[in-house]
Amino acid sequence: MVRTPIIFEDKDKYLILKDTGRSLLKIHRLLLEFKLGRKLKPNEVTHHINEDKQDNRLENLEVREKGKHQRQHQIKKGLLSEKQICPKCKGKKGYVAKLCFKCYHKNRGNK
Ligand SMILES: [Zn+2]
Ligand SMILES: [Zn+2]
Repeated sequence: MVRTPIIFEDKDKYLILKDTGRSLLKIHRLLLEFKLGRKLKPNEVTHHINEDKQDNRLENLEVREKGKHQRQHQIKKGLLSEKQICPKCKGKKGYVAKLCFKCYHKNRGNK
C-alpha cells in the first residue's frame, strides 16, 4: 500500500508534514536542519526571516534560541519594549532596572 504524506497547517500556521502512521514533522525544522547540516537542539527554533511562517525557502530560515526568539517577535509586534530586555542575557527585566534580576545579582557577586 502506498502511503501518501499530507501537508497541513497547524494552529500556528506552520506547515506540518504528516506521513500516515508516523509522527508529525515540522517542515521548516527539517529544512533548517538540512541547511545547517545538523540536528536542531531542543532549545533551538526556526525563525522565518520575512515573518511568513509558510515561506520555507532555505534562505528564509534561520536558527534562533527559543526564549530570545519569542521576545524578538514580541518587540517587533510592539508587545515588548527594548527597554524591558536585559542587555546581558536578553532576558526580560523591569522597565527601570539596568539589568534583569539574575544578572544584577551575578554582577554584584563578582565584585
Ligand atoms: Zn521568528
Ligand atoms: Zn539578564
